[in-house]
Amino acid sequence: MPELPELDALVEFLRPRLIGDFVTRVDIAELSLLKTVDPSIDALAGLEITEVDRRGKALILGFDGLALVCRFARMGWLNWHDTAPNSPIKMGKGPLGMRVSLASGAAFDLIEPGSKKNAAVSLVRDLSEVPAIASLGPDVLSTTVDELSAALAESTSRIKTVLEDQRIIAGLGNAYTDEILHTAKLSPFATAKTVDTRNLHTALHEVLDTARSSLIGLPPWKIKTAKKRGFSVHGRTGETCPVCGETIAEVSFADKSLQYCPGCQTGGKKLSDRRMDRLLK
Ligand SMILES: [Zn+2]
Repeated sequence: MPELPELDALVEFLRPRLIGDFVTRVDIAELSLLKTVDPSIDALAGLEITEVDRRGKALILGFDGLALVCRFARMGWLNWHDTAPNSPIKMGKGPLGMRVSLASGAAFDLIEPGSKKNAAVSLVRDLSEVPAIASLGPDVLSTTVDELSAALAESTSRIKTVLEDQRIIAGLGNAYTDEILHTAKLSPFATAKTVDTRNLHTALHEVLDTARSSLIGLPPWKIKTAKKRGFSVHGRTGETCPVCGETIAEVSFADKSLQYCPGCQTGGKKLSDRRMDRLLK
């Protein structure tokens, strides 16, 4: 799932290309993508794009009095075309969810490969009409140490779970929480309220600042590969930890997995991985 650093890079790419341009038409290829009916998506035709921004992990395009909220889910992303493709749009086939064509001749697509369609687009008069946006906690980049302490103070949940909860802190997902916890030398299973928040806050900024500076300036089609290159532990099960040389381990869940370094994060101990344990029995 695209997270804060990728979204910031996307926003930086889109801003100079979109602001001041006008939408000529919007084609919805995947009906489940569009979550709102009023105003109609066709209301965008003829409107000028006045704002390109990010809220949490969502891309926001602002128009005079309307906002288009694009949430990419795990597999979704944006394809940019300097010149809008001529090919006709096939409904409900392939990764294309929505194409927005512009007066300049350019276009962009919201795509979501795979059979699961969880990406979401909402056209609203006010962002508070989108529950996933209205319920966002403070943005992770602007969260102070005190705010982080307050957010974690009462929580007996695992730190990894809390950092991914958009209602507590907005912007992080599975990949960057793995990286932040590795940098902070914290077990993903540590109880949130026991965590040294100053250390976590420092790690959080270190990881996000590095990621943002490596991704901002890249076009959307290069961002995903560049993101993966920057990881120390995420997606690197079985590889060597660049910090301590230990082998990177993972814990798998029904639909995802997390990676960590036992040397840096858990005092050499392997975390329980029920799925792996079952396979080995
Ligand atoms: Zn390590």
